[in-house]
Amino acid sequence: MSWKLGLALVFVALFAQASGASGRGADGNFDVRTSSHFVLHQDVDIDQSGGFHGSRRFEQQVLATLESAFENLDRLLGLRPERKLDVVVYDSGIFDQQFGGLFRFQAAGFYAGIIRVRGASELSIQLRRVLHHELVHAALDVAAPSFVFPAWINEGGAEWFEARAALGKRGLSGPEWAALQRLAASGSLFSLAQLSVPAYSRMGGQSAQIAYLQSYALIEFLARTYGERTLPRFYAELIRSRDVARALKRVYRLDPQQLEALFFDQLQ
Ligand SMILES: [Zn+2]
Repeated sequence: MSWKLGLALVFVALFAQASGASGRGADGNFDVRTSSHFVLHQDVDIDQSGGFHGSRRFEQQVLATLESAFENLDRLLGLRPERKLDVVVYDSGIFDQQFGGLFRFQAAGFYAGIIRVRGASELSIQLRRVLHHELVHAALDVAAPSFVFPAWINEGGAEWFEARAALGKRGLSGPEWAALQRLAASGSLFSLAQLSVPAYSRMGGQSAQIAYLQSYALIEFLARTYGERTLPRFYAELIRSRDVARALKRVYRLDPQQLEALFFDQLQ
């Protein structure tokens, strides 16, 4: 596959959509609005353009979120895309219609050259998370267009940044720890080699859920054990060398087997 794919995942039920029939939005005519680092295309079914619930305010909020995520991305992962990034926010019904069949699980957004997200009529916490998540995929692609990052680094970094920057979450939650320990005890976690595929898009829902959680936990393990400040160095070294083993060695003095062993040990 020549194009790279980064996904944000939601494990919630699809709720029924009544889109397209009313209002001025979701008509295929995208409103375009730019900020310092982004070009936003927006086609959510929002009735009014002005006012508190209007589309203009929504677009400004989305761009403000993206710009703040941009600064946090530089600070936390040392990534600062040098070109403007296109972000398309679709009406949720249209997103599901157009892209629902691409994945074996429900996606809330994906990156393939352009950030595409399943919109909402307001800036929900879910939408904030997806925007943060996809920004990592876009930034890694801009930094190393010809390099296919192992999914645990690409998705793990996106999940970590989403949790850290959009939610202010540090470390694994109690339920996440419990789930990982349970999965480890039953031999249901993946090996690092299995998590080093280009993407998890072909996995079934349950496997994908485990792969995303474990990838997040791997990046969180590096941040917790060696300090958050090592992450920008790790990503920079990886982008420079395009060699995971070398980047792990230089920044953490670990080879992939050691990382895997340490990660599993802490779950015992
Ligand atoms: Zn992703």
